[in-house]
This record gives sequence, C-alpha cells and structure tokens, in this order.
Amino acid sequence: MKKHFIYIGILLGLGVALYILLKPVNDFIEFHGKTMGTTYYVKIASKHKDSALHGNIKELLENFNSQMSTWDKDSELSKLNSVKNSEWVDISEEVWRVLKLSKKISIETGGAFDISVGKLVNLWGFGADGKRRIEPPIPQEIEQVKNHIGMDKLELHQTLFKARKKDAKLYLDLSAIAKGYGVDLVSEYLLSKGYSNHIIEIGGELRVSGFRYPKKQWKIAVEVPDSSIRKNGRILELTNTGVATSGDYRNFFTYKGKRYSHTINPLTGKPVTHNLTSVTVFNKDCAVADAYATAFMVIGATKALELANKKHLKVVFYVKVNDKIEEKLSKAMEAFLELEMRCK
Ligand code: ADP
Ligand code: MG
Repeated sequence: MKKHFIYIGILLGLGVALYILLKPVNDFIEFHGKTMGTTYYVKIASKHKDSALHGNIKELLENFNSQMSTWDKDSELSKLNSVKNSEWVDISEEVWRVLKLSKKISIETGGAFDISVGKLVNLWGFGADGKRRIEPPIPQEIEQVKNHIGMDKLELHQTLFKARKKDAKLYLDLSAIAKGYGVDLVSEYLLSKGYSNHIIEIGGELRVSGFRYPKKQWKIAVEVPDSSIRKNGRILELTNTGVATSGDYRNFFTYKGKRYSHTINPLTGKPVTHNLTSVTVFNKDCAVADAYATAFMVIGATKALELANKKHLKVVFYVKVNDKIEEKLSKAMEAFLELEMRCK
C-alpha cells in the first residue's frame, strides 16, 4: 500500500515538473530608445535573453538613420539631396530599395504619395531645416518650389544601385515611409534570429509578429483622432501585420482659424484641408502601410476609400462630420472585423 502512495507521489511530482517545463512562454524582453527624431519600442515574447540583442537593434537603427534621414546632414539621402547636377550617383542597396518602393507607391496613388515634396514640406515649416511658420507662404513661392517636385524627376538605375536627379533641385524626404521601413527591418532582423513573437513600434508605426502568448494575439489600439486627448478607439487582436497611422491632429499650425497640417498635396503644393482627420492602414509590410496612410490623407476620405477597396487594403478612416468624428471602414477591414467577431 505504502509503495503505491510513493509511486503516485513520484508521478504527481513528475507531472508538476513537466507542467513547469512545458507551460506557455510568458516572459517578455522589452527595450526602448530614440531614433528618427522619435522613440522606438520593442517587446519580444521569449524565454531566451540575448544580451547583445538591444545593441544590435540600436546599431541597425543608427545605420538606417545614417542612410535615410534628412535630419542628418551627412546621411546618404542628404548627400543625394545636395548633389547639384544630374549625374548618376552611387547609393546603397537599401536606399535604392526604399526609393524604388516610394516610386511604385507614388504611381499606385496617382502621385498623392510623393517623397519629392521635401522642399514644400520645408517651405510650409514642417521640414528638417528647422524653420517653423505661423502663416502660409505666398502663392508665388509655392509655385516656384512646385516646379521642382515630381517623382518623374528621379531616375533609378535598373540594374545598378544608382540614382539620378533629372532636376538638380530635387529634394527627397522619406519621413512618410522611413518609420514603417525601419519597423520592417527590425522585425525581419528578429525573425532571422528566431524571435518570431514580437511587436515593434517606431513613432506610432508598428508591426506585430506571431503571438503574445501561445494562441494569444497582440492587442493593438487604433487611436481616435483628437489633438487634445488621445483616446483609444478599436482594440484589435492582430498577428503578422504592420499598422501605420497618419493624421492631421498632431503636427500642424493654425492661421486665421484654418488648420495647416504636415501632409502636403503634391498637386496643389499646399497642406491638405479636408474632413479626413486620420487613417490607419494594416498591411504585411509596415513601410507600405506607412506610405499608404499618408497617401490616403492626401486623397481624402471618399476617393481613398475607393482606392483602399480596389487595392483590398484594410483601412480605418476617421472623418470629421459636423464636429463629430465618424469611423469609415474599407471592405477588407469590414470582412476582417466580421471574422474576428465570429471567432470570439
Ligand atoms: P507621421 O510623421 O505623423 O507618421 P506621416 O507618416 O504621414 O506622418 O508623414 C508625414 C511626413 O511626410 C511629413 O512631415 C512630410 O515630411 C512628409 N510628407 C508630407 N506630405 C507628403 C506626401 N504627399 N508624400 C510623401 N511624404 C509627405
Ligand atoms: Mg506615413
């Protein structure tokens, strides 16, 4: 009899030990810091801690900045911007890829997304030159600068990592895609190191991969636009997707009761002024989500919704109607939410 109790005791002990060993992963590695004039945050669900990981990510982001930033006068992009002729210039593969993607999205969005708006961004007081404004520039100034805008003025070599400014005054600004691209780079780096469950955020653009706990997706809040308060709107459970938001409610100046925000319509040369206050785009690649979010801000709610449906993109729009904020969803987003409801 006694022996039986001993055996049962051993079995129970083994069971408890096995449970402890195999219990779901619930350790997180977290770190944060500053990059691209904003902050980054990384959270990884993993039991294994690699002490070199944060250092490697910091280095990756520093390297990225030294390539793409207009705020860094010595960056590769700043050097390309300062070229005063139309000769071919050697660029890194990474910059070539970002420029190529930017050109593609510019075409897909009918020119709404345009990284060559840089000089207009500066003119309107939102640029890296640090000159801020309290009133709009005069129309002649806008027209003058507009002459040097357009992605057709940037040529990328088909086979070599080279670029050529057909208009020597062309000035590129990657602010509307760089954060998303940086998020993708960090995410892909973590995936390559076997950290498949993570969330990365740079200045509000983010990407989630895998799970928070086994079978538990990452929870993401879509912000409701308001410049005085930041209210959480929808809380979504997501995996393997990038999420990017653009809005008119954080970076703007007001002149004679009119709001001038940092999103510039390349066709008019002026900041966008319509009732679309914020756009959140979900896409596998955060860079694409980031660029489309800006493009949709330029295009405006009605046409942006059409384009989002044509491209089967998941998008949440917040539109101001009579001082109230209304939510509009693309078809793919509606389908996603319906599926989410059914799975709950
Ligand atoms: P946020 O910085 O709030 O995430 P965006 O991703 O929309 O916002 O990026 C806005 C920045 O992109 C502006 O500050 C400006 O530098 C640049 N920009 C403005 N208009 C355009 C445009 N039409 N196409 C590409 N970049 C733009
Ligand atoms: Mg953007």
